[in-house]
Amino acid sequence: MNLQELKLQVCREIDRHREEVLDFGTEIWDHPELGYREVRTAGRAAEKLEELGLTVKRGLAVTGFRADMDTGREGPVVALLGEMDALLLPTHPAADPVTGAIHACGHNCHITSLVGAAIGLSAAGVLDSCSGKIALVGVPAEETLDPAFVKQLRAEGKIRFDCGKPELIRCGVFDDVDIALMNHAGGDFSVNDFNGYLRKEITFHGKSSHAALPQEGINAISAANLAQHALALTKDRWTADPYVRVHGLLSHAGDAVNVVPDRVELSYMLRGGSPQMLAMLSRLFDRAFNGAAYALETSCEIETRHGSSPLKNSDALCELYRRCVSELLPGARISIKTNYQPGCTDMGDMSMIVPSLHGYFPGCEGPCHSPEFRIGNPEQTYLLSSKLLACMALELLAGDAETGRRIAMEKKEKLPIPEYLKQISALESHTLFPPEGFPEKR
Ligand SMILES: [Zn+2]
Ligand SMILES: [Zn+2]
Repeated sequence: MNLQELKLQVCREIDRHREEVLDFGTEIWDHPELGYREVRTAGRAAEKLEELGLTVKRGLAVTGFRADMDTGREGPVVALLGEMDALLLPTHPAADPVTGAIHACGHNCHITSLVGAAIGLSAAGVLDSCSGKIALVGVPAEETLDPAFVKQLRAEGKIRFDCGKPELIRCGVFDDVDIALMNHAGGDFSVNDFNGYLRKEITFHGKSSHAALPQEGINAISAANLAQHALALTKDRWTADPYVRVHGLLSHAGDAVNVVPDRVELSYMLRGGSPQMLAMLSRLFDRAFNGAAYALETSCEIETRHGSSPLKNSDALCELYRRCVSELLPGARISIKTNYQPGCTDMGDMSMIVPSLHGYFPGCEGPCHSPEFRIGNPEQTYLLSSKLLACMALELLAGDAETGRRIAMEKKEKLPIPEYLKQISALESHTLFPPEGFPEKR
């Protein structure tokens, strides 16, 4: 079979399993699970792959998995990624009444398209007409919404990074992978680059006293207040970059109004388009916060953690995406890199190590992460998305995988995994200022 025949065969196979794929998408929508808790979701997806005769390696980065479709012929390894986690949005009308979880970012479509693509690629004769290997990877925890749970997993040594893809990379799941593909649910066909981010958890320590006798205490809120002001004044340093975002909140601000607060906690995200920008934001942030601690004689503890890396989509893969969409839906409007996204996705981490694509497919209605979000067109979110993912894999691996081999060459410009891990780890730190901490007896 040539490429066009392969694509027809795969799409026909997905259509033949139409009800099964649609039902699976709805089933996962009905059972949303938060990051690193996608036990049922991963289990059901793995069962589906096992029904196709595949061997599934489970429990990678807690709930992730990988199953390989090997052509038996030498060639590139293409990873197809399927995110699995839901959002925490209890105000959504369809949210789980107990956990508040809901697939308001459409990740149920992502794991469905992975299963659907696997069904299509299992059609008779397809792998026999391709070279290389397809790695089907179920990915946990793209959204990181439960800091206490993630912290516990870190303390137990079960994870090292908050997001699922850097964690899977660390676990060696992508060691042999040359190209990574995933598509995200949305309202259009588009591909855009994204910011990366660092996460900051900050604690100011002061000294409690009766609020009517503030001279006997040291107010930790005052230090936090000054720090936020200093941080705001750092804007001159990065204002030339219109996509930098620095935002945070006070997560603990004292216990009683008549007590000078001795402990204040804040949570921040720093978003920027390059590791260099993230490093600069991090430095300015720490100076602003430590400087405020110095000025007001509190102490300041800052934990800095890698969130996700900036996403740079491969131009060659963008063209391949454009071709596949045009064939599946002739006349569809497709925009490539027209709207840089100040948001973040850990697909950025994949793009640090291999040529990657993070495209969008339509079929959802309402803004993502909002109570209005819903699956408007299941034909698109479950079936078309499956066909798109499968067809892109075929583009890369059909015949002797000529296209795949060419695009895999881009891997030479990417970071080797140990170097990538070193780079993102270098941005992490846990500091205390002053180093001796808050002098209790003052
Ligand atoms: Zn999201
Ligand atoms: Zn998402």
